[in-house]
Amino acid sequence: MLEELLKKLDLNYTLKLLKNIIQINSTVGNEGELVEFLKNELESLGLKCTLDEVEPNRPNIYSKLIGINPGKKINYNGHTDTIPVVDGWETDPFEPIINNGKLYGLGACDMKAGIACAINMLRAFVESDYTFNGELSFSGVIDEEAFGKGAKAMLSHSEFKNVDAIVLGEPYPGDEIQPIPLGITGKILYDITVKGKAAHAFRPYLGINAIEELGKIITNLDKLNFKNHPDFGKGNYSTLKIEGGYEIYSVVVPAFARMEVNRLLVPGETAQSAIDDMNNLIESINLSSQVTVEIKPPLYQAYISDRNDLIFRVFDKVYRSVMGKAPFYEYTSGITDANIFAGEGNIPCLHLGPHQETAHQKNEYISLDCLEPLSKMYALIAMNFLE
Ligand SMILES: [Zn+2]
Repeated sequence: MLEELLKKLDLNYTLKLLKNIIQINSTVGNEGELVEFLKNELESLGLKCTLDEVEPNRPNIYSKLIGINPGKKINYNGHTDTIPVVDGWETDPFEPIINNGKLYGLGACDMKAGIACAINMLRAFVESDYTFNGELSFSGVIDEEAFGKGAKAMLSHSEFKNVDAIVLGEPYPGDEIQPIPLGITGKILYDITVKGKAAHAFRPYLGINAIEELGKIITNLDKLNFKNHPDFGKGNYSTLKIEGGYEIYSVVVPAFARMEVNRLLVPGETAQSAIDDMNNLIESINLSSQVTVEIKPPLYQAYISDRNDLIFRVFDKVYRSVMGKAPFYEYTSGITDANIFAGEGNIPCLHLGPHQETAHQKNEYISLDCLEPLSKMYALIAMNFLE
């Protein structure tokens, strides 16, 4: 039965599907058409689909195969959005082109190849009548490249109550260059507002200069208390934006300034602990102004995986049998929807996909030789997990 299922994996089908979905522009905010296409495709395979309209014309898509007996639930997840088209493409990003064993197109590696391989796997399950316990499902979520609204909506959707593991088709192939994440840092965006006091700028001692006060905060940011995590080390910060002062030239002490500061979080640090840390720092520098510390989206919680969790045990075994070598693992600082699924929802998450040298760049491609082993690993992981 296992052999029969593996035989149903079809490289030509995967490649054709991948080309089709690259041709559909699904840059973040415009996922609707691709989701409609995926719905038709999954329904033509005999799978029922549920659309969840997260925002107008931006639905998530869920589809599921139910096993013969109750059991574990595994979900294969892809984000349907891509980044916007960046400058410098030498070909049409929406016209897939094969050259030298590589397929070029926007979203090729991030992450339409993962979606195509997951659907190839589902198709093989349907066509082979392979019997399993529990549930095998697919989810396509919007907005990963922006605020993760799709993943957040999925987390609260009844379809995904008690999912035991999620496999994200993100471009992490598990080799020494792009190891499998065993945890990912989180991040917050501080929104810090300084209220000073306006005065004639020839008599600055009568006012409180909000910009200069803000400057004192900036020069003290290195005193933030970053927790040292044994696997991740310390987080960091980067000031991303400052604003304040006159809009039309005027000799007035500015009464208002604000800034946005990005901060990476390691497991053990939360949004609240980061806010408290910033407030403590600001208190310690004795400013005359009134400072408000808030955070604004996007917010991603850090998470760390348990390597002994079933999904990682199954993956490790499958990877060795398909790739003929041991996978590499890492603790990393990228942001993916796993920050939401695992960081907020505590669902074990495995990233597994193609290489990513060109993710978020011009001339994005995948090497075609990754499609076959990837589909096979997806299938074997599902079979072993749902045994
Ligand atoms: Zn991605």
